[in-house]
Amino acid sequence: MDSQQFREFGKAAIDLVADYIDNIRERDVLPSIEPGYLIDILPENAPEEPGDWRDVIKDFNQIIMPGVTHWHSPRFHAFYPTGASYASMVGNILSDGLGVIGFSWLSSPACTELEVVTMNWLGKMLGLPEEFLNCSPGRGGGIIQGSASEATLVGLLVAKEKTVRRLLKQNPSLDEGSIKAKLIAYTSDQCNSSVEKSGLLGSMTMRLLKSDADGRLRGDTLKKAFKEDLAQGLIPCYVVANLGTTGTCAFDPLYELGPICNEYDVWLHVDAAYAGAAFICPEYRHLMKGVEFADSFDFNPHKWLLVNFDCSAMWVKDGLELIKTFDVQRIYLDDIKTDTKVPDYRHWQIPLGRRFRALKLWTVINIYGAEGLRKHIRNQIDLAQHFAKLVRSDDRFVIEPEPSMGLVCFRLKDGDKITKSLLENLTKKKKVFMVAGAFRGRYIIRFVVCSRLTKREDIDFSWNNVKYEADLICKPEIHNKPKIPALEHIETITISEKSK
Ligand code: PLP
Repeated sequence: MDSQQFREFGKAAIDLVADYIDNIRERDVLPSIEPGYLIDILPENAPEEPGDWRDVIKDFNQIIMPGVTHWHSPRFHAFYPTGASYASMVGNILSDGLGVIGFSWLSSPACTELEVVTMNWLGKMLGLPEEFLNCSPGRGGGIIQGSASEATLVGLLVAKEKTVRRLLKQNPSLDEGSIKAKLIAYTSDQCNSSVEKSGLLGSMTMRLLKSDADGRLRGDTLKKAFKEDLAQGLIPCYVVANLGTTGTCAFDPLYELGPICNEYDVWLHVDAAYAGAAFICPEYRHLMKGVEFADSFDFNPHKWLLVNFDCSAMWVKDGLELIKTFDVQRIYLDDIKTDTKVPDYRHWQIPLGRRFRALKLWTVINIYGAEGLRKHIRNQIDLAQHFAKLVRSDDRFVIEPEPSMGLVCFRLKDGDKITKSLLENLTKKKKVFMVAGAFRGRYIIRFVVCSRLTKREDIDFSWNNVKYEADLICKPEIHNKPKIPALEHIETITISEKSK
């Protein structure tokens, strides 16, 4: 493929994506295919002969597209959002165009330095304590990891090495292997699966401590666990606090957990994967009160800050701890750089190679501006509040717990079984997509405002679908009667979007 063909192929792909986004409401959010559909269609072996890009686009439309779940449909309300914006997509194109690998400064100085700058910008936008920033006098700094899962694992591995070094210094006769076998990590029973997995990957027992009735890990619970383990000769090493749990978006009180971690010399990592984006709005920063006690903090711009996957923003107070843990030298990796404030990011992460991910963060921050990003967050929270109001207007439903950020959890008062059926029926119809959760032992449906395209009419559409299915379940005798008012919205929205 030459540059001329690239221009044509690339422009056709951009048109395709722009059309897809413009008309996304015309599609069901979930695909209508059976497992194995694509494996059955595609040839068993790779093509031997070069192909034409037009055929690739054709196959994309005809074969790939039918199997896509539309994460950016305003009717997608499952999990948490995954970021996407035109600004970010262009950043990705530029990064792919350069195709650099920035594991050291010399391997592409702009790759490292733009990451330093954008992570300082972002850290300031969030109101993080100065100590976390590369532009402060200390050893703090930010790095873009691939995912919150990686950040949690990095924190765990660094905490492990740091604890071993500390204990060996105190008592050099100790054996490194037996110290490692005694190290314990802690988090709440509401943690994301990736937090539990970090314990498995890092070979450290991860205790999932009981959260309180609101899904928060409390200081007294943590302190009790530390004491129990110390009494048994075990060594508290790592705590993951959750700011915005995946289930119900609960916030652990850092101001309770932090001082305890500091007292026991335990590394405190903050997993704010989804909700951390909201701290760019000062009115939500009280939810990270106590962040100054943390050793590392991570949130995903690739969730709620309009940056396409993958871009997980992690800050540490002491970058030297990462270097001490991950520094493995080779002669071919030698760098000419002497400025220690410019990090060799390969020592801050698990892989050696790293893409120029800062470019998409940079394009997004430039195109939206901090104020545009705040507007996005506030708008999505307003839309969630609108949904909550609609649910509250129907006395068959209850909202539990209170809505948090862009998440509204609700259930039918008549019980778990009927709530589960409601969700199953909605999923079968494929018009809207939500997933289940649990709160105080009850089955709940999680509704999240995910797509950046979401408008009030879309929320009305989703709610009307919920109501329609609830009508069918609660009063099966009217099975053939109700007309979904929401369907009229599809027409209205599509026409008005197109006529723009
Ligand atoms: N932590 C929380 C609270 C999450 O909600 C999620 C994903 O939704 C993760 C971690 C995992 O994020 P990632 O896919 O970036 O590893």
